[in-house]
Amino acid sequence: MNIVVLLGPPGVGKGTQAEIISAKLGIPAISTGQIFRDNVESGTELGVLASGYLDQGEYVPDVVTTSMVSERLDQDDVAEGFLLDGFPRTLSQVSALETLLDDRGWKITAVISLEAPEHIAVEHMTKRAKDSGRSDDKPEVFRKRLDVYHERTEPIVTHYQDRGLLYSVDASGTIPEVSANVFTQLEAAGIGV
Ligand code: AMP
Repeated sequence: MNIVVLLGPPGVGKGTQAEIISAKLGIPAISTGQIFRDNVESGTELGVLASGYLDQGEYVPDVVTTSMVSERLDQDDVAEGFLLDGFPRTLSQVSALETLLDDRGWKITAVISLEAPEHIAVEHMTKRAKDSGRSDDKPEVFRKRLDVYHERTEPIVTHYQDRGLLYSVDASGTIPEVSANVFTQLEAAGIGV
């Protein structure tokens, strides 16, 4: 069972790579951002709670996010492995995930960190903003999302590095170039395609 965590700043192409990895490895991609957006769209209680945070580029509180992931991990389709896209994003979520996995007797196989200069992320966001319709792809909210990422998520990259789980990937090229880099690193982590 392979459990892959995908990390990277907003706009780096995480969602796109998550879909490619998920299709190639035949495991579900669990995107916390997408689950929140789906809930906002369908007007659930969770969506109502989350929408203010999403619109401001802030993180949804850890307890809310973690219990959502816990429920997701109880579904049958994760039995053969899964990819986490956008979770964990804070040190508290890192410990919560540790507990969720321990409780089920599971372990992270590899953490892939997508890395690119900031101007690339801004270019992606600007292009995406035109057709994504995402309320958080406006320049001022995007700036906030980058700041929150640096402050709250970058420390977890160091954490996974210290644990020997981190595989860095140059994400500044085209989509196929980046996925080729991703698969090279997945192989290095012992995950064959
Ligand atoms: P993403 O689609 O990964 O860019 O996430 C979009 C938005 O969803 C983020 O800016 C947060 O508001 C929220 N979100 C997604 N994942 C998390 C998480 N792990 N913790 C808290 N908030 C999250």
